[in-house]
Amino acid sequence: MTVDKDTRHAARMQRKKTLIDANIAQANQEKGLLLVLTGNGKGKSSSAFGMVARALGYGMKVGVAQFIKSRKDTGEEAFFSKQPNVEWHVLGDGFTWDTQNRAQDIQTAVAGWKIAKKMLQNPDIGLVVLDELTYTLSYGYLDTAQIMADIAARPAMQHVVVTGRAAPQVLIDAADTVSELMDIKHAYRAGIKAQAGIDL
Ligand code: ATP
Ligand code: MG
Repeated sequence: MTVDKDTRHAARMQRKKTLIDANIAQANQEKGLLLVLTGNGKGKSSSAFGMVARALGYGMKVGVAQFIKSRKDTGEEAFFSKQPNVEWHVLGDGFTWDTQNRAQDIQTAVAGWKIAKKMLQNPDIGLVVLDELTYTLSYGYLDTAQIMADIAARPAMQHVVVTGRAAPQVLIDAADTVSELMDIKHAYRAGIKAQAGIDL
């Protein structure tokens, strides 16, 4: 009985391996990817920073542009900005509900994009993270068509990760990989404040 089960398992795995090997052989292209991490659940920015760690592990240069938010004392900034291959820019003025000043928000976003665009024109940078960029698009602070054109014009092998809620459809259409983080539960709603090392 057990032998039978083992034999059937081996045969099934052999068939599975044939299929998986064929699929792997078919995925043979290489290119700079555009990835989007969106949705209301936690894990968008931290996933992007996970890819920053991976890229650094391969000796790649990485550029990070943080839009909207203005905190310069986050754990990710403290750790990654010390790494020799990292260029880290905090480009926000703060949350839109804190600044309450649309003209100023627009000016900040436009100035921030100039810096991000430089990284998108630098072929030495293998990965660019545009953290919380979606808000500058959904609030109309930046011209979505222009942003999409600048992203499309990047060096062929450069990867770009965009994070933020409510990613516009044009961004999703242009992306190679899109994940939506779903909010099932968040400690914040149980009255727990943002925790160092987990939330900031
Ligand atoms: P993280 O940076 O932790 O990966 P995120 O990028 O997915 O989170 P943001 O919308 O950028 O989410 O929010 C950043 C901060 O808000 C983090 O402190 C995060 O824990 C918190 N947060 C994320 N999702 C939720 C949620 N659904 N409810 C309340 N707070 C949240
Ligand atoms: Mg985030």
